[in-house]
Amino acid sequence: MRYQKSNRLNDVCYDIRGPVLEAAERLEREGHRIIKLNIGNPAAFQLDAPDEIIVDVIANLRKGEGYSNSKGLFSARKAIFQRWQANGLGHIDINHIWLGNGVSELISLATSALLNHNDEVLIPAPDYPLWTAAVTLAGATPRHYQCNEDLGWEPNIEHIRSLINPNTKALVLINPNNPTGAVYSRECLIQIAELAKQHQLVVFADEIYDRIIYDDAEHIPFAQFAEQFLCLSFNGLSKSHRLAGFRSGWMVASGCVEEASDLIEGINMLASMRLCSNVPAQLAIQTALGGHQTIDDLVAPGGRLYEQRNRAYELLTAIEGISCVKAQAALYLFVKIDTNIYAVPDDEELVLQFLLQQHILLVQGSAFNVPEKHYLRFVFLPHIEDLVVAIERLETFLQQYKRH
Ligand code: PLP
Repeated sequence: MRYQKSNRLNDVCYDIRGPVLEAAERLEREGHRIIKLNIGNPAAFQLDAPDEIIVDVIANLRKGEGYSNSKGLFSARKAIFQRWQANGLGHIDINHIWLGNGVSELISLATSALLNHNDEVLIPAPDYPLWTAAVTLAGATPRHYQCNEDLGWEPNIEHIRSLINPNTKALVLINPNNPTGAVYSRECLIQIAELAKQHQLVVFADEIYDRIIYDDAEHIPFAQFAEQFLCLSFNGLSKSHRLAGFRSGWMVASGCVEEASDLIEGINMLASMRLCSNVPAQLAIQTALGGHQTIDDLVAPGGRLYEQRNRAYELLTAIEGISCVKAQAALYLFVKIDTNIYAVPDDEELVLQFLLQQHILLVQGSAFNVPEKHYLRFVFLPHIEDLVVAIERLETFLQQYKRH
């Protein structure tokens, strides 16, 4: 069978952009307006990137015509280096910073560089599913560790411990978390760092939402604890600077980098194979990290994201049989349907029916690798008027499943 896809893709899934999205696109082609609460793409909701970044990129566009160094422009990496130091994260080598076409490319690059068959990687459930997909594609086995909804979705340390065996090579930490909006406590991070040290795990710290923090929550970069193990930290401009379309992300190695020279050689080789990341998008980094962080206004009380999160949370949890932990960060609420109250079909069918009947697009919880089939992820990026309509329609829609 010449045109059969590679066997390596057999267990790889990325259901955020799965068949339900195709159905939504079909409805749109037929002229229906779909309210999309499915993807964390700020620019699609009039949350524009700061003007100064766009102006700078346009002014410098000519400089972006050619390939750059495979790791990325020195000026951009220097800006990341300086922000790292300003955050009190200690010494790193600028040669241990790589730029990528979004964090997404670097996730694939890092997992491909590190993993072999038989390796196991600990990944949170729920997760941002690219991690599970990339680990699987790299030929290794994802092992999902539980996060406790009752404890604000913090990782269950005992469960992590119980999953560790001689094949366990790495642990993924998504903090702040997509899809739960959790921000992990210092105690939790210290316990994970202890396990990483004890078992020599590489920690992949995905911190792309580190500036989208509400209330008094405090995000602590995991690199703070990386002393006797290797930490690869991921961040970028997609969320904090509303530049998801630029595809601009970075990865920083810290901790015991001297012992990781072979892996670093592998990362460098893969970075060279893709020549370099999009250079105009690299040009945005220095301005973005240098200036006033406009995201701070959006997440402070009165700011758009803050108000939208509050309203979505209040309205959703006012519906009988719906609960969720109030997000402390990011752009999402991970909503639970009480199956004692509603006899709902499995979550993918539920999301499809909600789309077909009410023209609202959500993502089913199981796309985030939770075993339960009664969660929905709700993006609160749209304006309040659209959020109100979407939540009213959810309430109406659920009535057909109500148990009597
Ligand atoms: N990591 C997490 C936790 C995300 O939620 C996303 C995108 O939604 C990404 C990584 C990918 O980001 P990028 O746009 O930089 O590829």
